Amino acid sequence: MGNENRELHVFFFPYLANGHIIPCVDLARVFASRGIRATIVTTPLNVPLISRTVGKANINIRTIKFPSPEETGLPEGCENAELALSADKIMKLLKATVLLRDPLEQVLEEEHPDCLVADMFFPWATDSAAKFGIPRIVFHGLGFFPLCVLACVRQYKPQDKVSSYMEPFVVPNLPGEITLTKMQLPQIPKHDEVFSKQLEEANESELKSYGVIANSFYELEPVYADHYRNELGRRAWHLGPVSLCNRDTEEKARRGREAAIDENECLKWLQSKEPNSVVYVCFGSMTSFPDAQLKEIAMGLEDSGQSFIWVVRKGSKSEDEKLEWLPEGFEERIEGKGLIIRGWAPQVMILDHEAVGGFVTHCGWNSVLEGVCAGLPMVTWPMYAEQFYNAKFLTDIVKIGVSVGVQTWIGMMGRESVKKEVIEKAVKRVMVGEEAEEMRNRAQELGKMARQAVVEGGSSYSDFNSLVEDLRSRAH
Ligand code: UDP
Repeated sequence: MGNENRELHVFFFPYLANGHIIPCVDLARVFASRGIRATIVTTPLNVPLISRTVGKANINIRTIKFPSPEETGLPEGCENAELALSADKIMKLLKATVLLRDPLEQVLEEEHPDCLVADMFFPWATDSAAKFGIPRIVFHGLGFFPLCVLACVRQYKPQDKVSSYMEPFVVPNLPGEITLTKMQLPQIPKHDEVFSKQLEEANESELKSYGVIANSFYELEPVYADHYRNELGRRAWHLGPVSLCNRDTEEKARRGREAAIDENECLKWLQSKEPNSVVYVCFGSMTSFPDAQLKEIAMGLEDSGQSFIWVVRKGSKSEDEKLEWLPEGFEERIEGKGLIIRGWAPQVMILDHEAVGGFVTHCGWNSVLEGVCAGLPMVTWPMYAEQFYNAKFLTDIVKIGVSVGVQTWIGMMGRESVKKEVIEKAVKRVMVGEEAEEMRNRAQELGKMARQAVVEGGSSYSDFNSLVEDLRSRAH
């Protein structure tokens, strides 16, 4: 524990979405655990989520006011992307982030931190930091592979050279012959103008920034870590997997929102299962499905014959809602075999339990990395953002993933449906048989390397030291 580091003070400013806030809090905890003073800046309604995840760590939380409904056009209290699921609200939330600039700068002026770690969705943050003579570091919460793909697609625009949406192209200047189609890139939904402008500005601001913190560890993707730094010329530090700062059950259970299930009840259920016999199914903090797709998932899971925990973002148990989206008699038939969590699940706690043997995921990078840490083969079901890249990483690069075959970026609107037979087959492939065994062995090997990376002498631990040295030499 480096007391010698105490004088550095780092500000963390996450985008207002759970999938951005949670890894950013974990990152702040990594800094705090290494003796660095850490402050997280956020808006009032995100404080409960952050304080739960901070737990006992010595981290300060500073709030800045979220702009009023008159300024943003959003309903009162809509301060987190999970409440802004329509295209219109997403756009408004992205716009509202610009209005956070003045309040953030005011806090920077008051506290004089030595560094600002701000999410990619705050393109203005590089200039804000510069105003106070401090470096801005970008945190997307991503690993090197998706960062490299994003950079190469942006730079070479291979999608402009194909004649149809389905024609595959190889991503230029990227090791490993990665093929994608235009359907898997962010498409032009109605709201895209603002979104693409935001991404453009984010890119410019990133290039001007002090560097990027990757949520990854070197051994997971050495080729892409080197490529990002040496070929694409970006300054970056890998400090992850940041979720590994949650060591005991209490920390894992408290991470994120309050769970929709009692953690002890959940653990008791898992305890009653054989090792590697449960598949965990969760599509991140934002995705919800139409009823017809939920029904297919239910039937696919049942037909796979595996025990499962399925996180469904729909209604809540307390609401006396008719479960029309479940097949007739489903709940009775799966009693004891399947657990449905309606709302927020303590994901890391569940993934890390020895009873869990596979993970059906939408391939958000946090989930990908949490699955890797838990040593799990994964069924990949990407939907939007950079999830198609992450899915490729699992299936083609580290070879611990089986795809359900979706081909189209949904931009959070309409979507491709996946039939029960496909779900059943993919679940079986990651859970039972030789292929599953081989993937699980590879994943466990990676999980072991992840844990080694974050302890003294490990690659992420050491990269942290170089970042702190860099910051210290600038601060004095
Ligand atoms: N998460 C969780 N419980 C849930 C849903 C999500 O703990 O019910 C956590 C998950 O562990 C991960 C984050 O929320 O750390 C989601 O991030 P990810 O990048 O996987 O997906 P996103 O939500 O950004 O699409």
